[in-house]
Amino acid sequence: MSEIDCQETKKHVHEYLHNELSEQELDDITAHLANCDSCEADYDLESTINSKIEEHCQEVPSAELLDGIKSRLQQILRGEAH
Ligand SMILES: [Zn+2]
Repeated sequence: MSEIDCQETKKHVHEYLHNELSEQELDDITAHLANCDSCEADYDLESTINSKIEEHCQEVPSAELLDGIKSRLQQILRGEAH
């Protein structure tokens, strides 16, 4: 089994949450998330956004919209949103 890095993990967080990965990829990412605070925070953020969207929206937003929401939230979390 191959070790994956943070870049690879963050790239796949979205697919991970939507069950769009192979079993091998799921295993790799699960293992990485368990050992990496940075990627786990990323995963938590994406997962929070997803559940909020499911609460409030009937339609699934586009990936572009999700990326916009995510970077906005990251700015807010870093205290850069003014
Ligand atoms: Zn990582």
